[in-house]
Order: sequence, then C-alpha cells, then structure tokens
Amino acid sequence: MDSAPNILIMDNDETTGSYYVLFFIYDFLAKSGIGNELDSLITINQFYKYFKEFNVFRPNLEYFLKTMNQMKTDGILDKVCIYTNQLDVRYIDNYSKWIASDGKVWSPPEILRIMYNKLAHNKKFIDGMFTRPFMPSNNVYNNYPVKDLAKAFRHFYPNQPVRLDKTIFIDDRYQEHYIINTSNSGTDKLSRYPMPPYYKSLPENAFDIILNAILKRNNISLEKYPDAVKLRQKIQQEWSEKNKEIKQLELDNPIKSDLLNTLAKDFKQFYLSKGLTNNITKNIKNARAKAEPNVNQRIREKRLRNSITKSITKRNRGEQEQNKTNKGEQREKREQREQRERNQIKRRTTKRRY
Ligand SMILES: [Mg+2]
Repeated sequence: MDSAPNILIMDNDETTGSYYVLFFIYDFLAKSGIGNELDSLITINQFYKYFKEFNVFRPNLEYFLKTMNQMKTDGILDKVCIYTNQLDVRYIDNYSKWIASDGKVWSPPEILRIMYNKLAHNKKFIDGMFTRPFMPSNNVYNNYPVKDLAKAFRHFYPNQPVRLDKTIFIDDRYQEHYIINTSNSGTDKLSRYPMPPYYKSLPENAFDIILNAILKRNNISLEKYPDAVKLRQKIQQEWSEKNKEIKQLELDNPIKSDLLNTLAKDFKQFYLSKGLTNNITKNIKNARAKAEPNVNQRIREKRLRNSITKSITKRNRGEQEQNKTNKGEQREKREQREQRERNQIKRRTTKRRY
C-alpha cells in the first residue's frame, strides 16, 4: 500500500448534533413498553423529521455528509465510521431496550447511524460503529480510556500496519480530555480534529411534539396505558430540566453555522492530497498548540490554588500564635526550638554511627 487509507471517524454528541431529546424519548419508549407497539420505520422517520426541524443536528450536517458520501463514490474517501461514548444498550443484559413491533432492537447510537445514512442519502454510508464498552461504573470523564483510533483502523484493515496519517477524527472533547490523557496509539495525535461543542436547546414543548407525532403516526393512544402516562410526565420533566441546562450551555458556546460547510471543503482537500502540509493538519496542530497552554494553565491554576491554601493556613496559624504569645513566651519558644534543633543534630550524628 503506497498511501494510508482515507478514513473519517465521527463522534456523536456535541459533534454532529445535540441529541438529549433522543435519549429521553428512547428511555420512555423502552421503559413504558409502548415502544413494542411502534413500527421502526415510521418512528425513525418522525425522529428524523423533527431533528431536522429543531436543529438537533448541527447546521449543515446534511451537506457535510452528502459531500462525504460523494467523496466515497468518487473513491476519495475509503471509510466513514462512528466512535461514540454512548452505550449500545442492545448488547447489555438487564437494560431497558426499545424493541419495535417489527422485532428490531434499537439503541441511541444505532438510531443515529440510520440518521447519518439518511442524511447522506446512502443506506450503506456508515461503515462501522464503535461504542463505549460496558463495564460497571466506568466513568466517561475519569477512567474511560481515550477513544482508540487504531482500533477503527484495525477493524477495517486487520492485515495492514496501522497508518492514521489520512484519518480524521472529529470530536468536541479534543481539548480537555484527550490532551490531558495520553493518546492510545501515540500515532493519532494529528488525526484528532477539534470541534467546538454544539449545544442546542429545543422549544419547551419539543418532547411532547416529537412523542405525540410518533404515537399518532403509529395509531397509538396513551389513554389505555395509565402507567405510561405517569412515566411520560416524569421523563418529560427530566428532559425539561436538562433542556434548561442546555440553554445555558448554548449561550456559553455560540453556534458557528457555517462550520460544516468549511470542513467539507477542507476535508476534501486533505483526502485528495498526498502530503501533510495542508489546511487540516495546520488546523489540528494549531488547535493542539492552543489547547496545550490551556491545559498547562489549568495545572498552574490548580497548583496556585493549593499553594495559596497552604500559605493562608500557615499565616492563620502564625497569627493565632502571635495573638496568644507575649515576648516572654516567644523567648521560651525560641529556646525550646533551639533545644529541639540541637537534639535533632544529636540524633543524626548518633544514627551515623550505625
Ligand atoms: Mg462528544
């Protein structure tokens, strides 16, 4: 093989979209049992319709994925895959799953995989999907290992040496998480493309609008299921709280609406080029250079906080002692200290003999 294969790896959450409403509705469909009454195709189509309408997807995601799909058709791009920290609950026992009336078992990443294929207008657009392995109490932000890009490569090319120089991994957690943790393979630093996180709060009634549309299209009335009505209220309330948090995050992270248009063009250039000196590599290097001082700054800030705490404690102690003491006591203390020092020296000399 002359050159490395061209691979695009995509993170889901806050990278391609802001999918909170999906998790909450999925939860309802799985736990209420209503999901069993629903047809897969009809339901997924409703998710798709409203995700577009409410900008759950990052602006221009459709254009971006269509461009990537065209590049695959033209032989410029070899593989596209998803690498997410979401759990694929289909493979976890004792986990509430949405199983549709047609027998299909769904999970949030599996729903998103279908969505990407729809946006790209190609049922086989996504070539692979990597999700968070399920371990009891694995914590995404502390203990969970950095996404291993070499794992994706080996999945597609098991008999070739790993080469990631023509791989791009778009992910919003680049700056914080991945730079602090050492990357798995050590060769994938330049593949990790940083994305500003995409947060989008939805209209207050969005949960109801989407769920009602799903139920209506499937000819389901919740009146027959009093337990489901109660559960719906509870989950809807949880979603609403989450949506308020997202609203704040959205304000903190302004949306760059033309980002994916620019990326589509830049990525095409990257995959077409043989060398490494191009826009993408430069962007990745610049982002690293910018992020690393931030990491260092955070470490410095932490040290500073600790040292301030220490000196404050020390000072307080000093002040307390001063308040208690008069000159006589101070002299007494000095004598005690000098005696201690003499004793220490004695002990040290004694030790040396042995
Ligand atoms: Mg993410």
